[in-house]
Amino acid sequence: PSADIEAFRKVLASSKHIIAVAGAGLSAASGIPTFRGAGGMWRKYDAMSLATPSAFKKNPSLVWQFYHYRREAALKAEPNAAHYALSRLSFPPIRQQVAPDSTFTLITQNVDNLSPRANESFFAECGEVPSTDQPHLLEMHGRLFDVKCTDKACGHTEFNTDSPICEGLRGTEQFVQRQHLDPELPADNLPKCSQCGALTRPGVVWFGEMPHHLDLISEIVDKADLCLVVGTSSTVYPAANYAYAVGMSGGTVAVFNFEDNESAQDADFAFIGPCEDLLPQVLGI
Ligand code: NAD
Ligand code: ZN
Repeated sequence: PSADIEAFRKVLASSKHIIAVAGAGLSAASGIPTFRGAGGMWRKYDAMSLATPSAFKKNPSLVWQFYHYRREAALKAEPNAAHYALSRLSFPPIRQQVAPDSTFTLITQNVDNLSPRANESFFAECGEVPSTDQPHLLEMHGRLFDVKCTDKACGHTEFNTDSPICEGLRGTEQFVQRQHLDPELPADNLPKCSQCGALTRPGVVWFGEMPHHLDLISEIVDKADLCLVVGTSSTVYPAANYAYAVGMSGGTVAVFNFEDNESAQDADFAFIGPCEDLLPQVLGI
């Protein structure tokens, strides 16, 4: 792969349909731990093993405490320069480096609300109404702040950034301090549905569940002629396939990652390093 910034900008300027596929590395500089990196442990648990339907079924209290911790971390965090660089790609007339009639969609695996927050503040700052022909942002793994009823017949979902989300989850910090204690929080104290009173769950897509917006995403991926792959290990499907699909149909793939992983080696461009530095620098925005 090439790391030639000028060559990349030529491709960027001539692309019609640009997408970015983002993962946890996009938010790493904001202080949100990735699952596979050094921050992938919570208490004595592997974070990935808690993000599953069976973990919730077995111990909803433990899983809610983990998500309480992740919600608190995301509330304290601020979007970083990489989030803002992607916001700038989304909103004309600030998109100097791209063709005026091109489209841009960010497909993110992140659930931390940092990309929507970056878009919102950038949008407020530039005062432009973004066109709605195509979505700017698709959060395919749901959202940390969506709270969803577990009763399928009810299915009520609410966006809620209360901190803590319910009294029962106050003071879970003590669990963090006492690493080896098993969860003690009674399931009765967990957040309940405001409509029907049933137990709620975090509105994120767990391993083994169906991601959101898949039809729309595949339409957008099919059209794309440039794919930026930002801070993802490209091991979670179907997201890992999108760059491959763009490459196979003759489009260009540019990877932004800390590590020179397999997806970087297969790419047309690879910019190896922190995306919060490289994305603004390489995009020139
Ligand atoms: P991952 O943890 O598998 O991979 C993170 C990737 O980011 C790695 O390849 C790493 O080299 C790279 N990286 C780390 N810091 C970087 C930086 N500063 N600049 C550039 N690259 C950097 O993450 P994933 O691929 O997103 O898959 C994990 C799954 O867990 C996803 O499905 C996601 O939904 C979920 N998750 C989300 C968040 C979040 O919302 N912020 C955090 C952790 C996990
Ligand atoms: Zn309900």
